[in-house]
Amino acid sequence: MTAPLRQHGRLVATIERSCAHKNRYPDEVTARAMGITQSEMSGYKIFIYPCVTCRGWHLTKSPSSDKTRVAGYFKPTPR
Ligand SMILES: [Zn+2]
Repeated sequence: MTAPLRQHGRLVATIERSCAHKNRYPDEVTARAMGITQSEMSGYKIFIYPCVTCRGWHLTKSPSSDKTRVAGYFKPTPR
């Protein structure tokens, strides 16, 4: 028996990449706050997106994903 390729209509590989291995934030405000903090600490552009799998929010460095909507970008503030 093999593992299923889909769960709840979504590819398992997509769920693993976009949800399962990421920190989940309960709402957009919390995700934005963490995005700002991580952007300032890392210097990377950080985007946030609502997750259709867990109904939470996640952070990503990738602005282009066909399954996610980029909801914000945080420019690091100069020190
Ligand atoms: Zn998720």
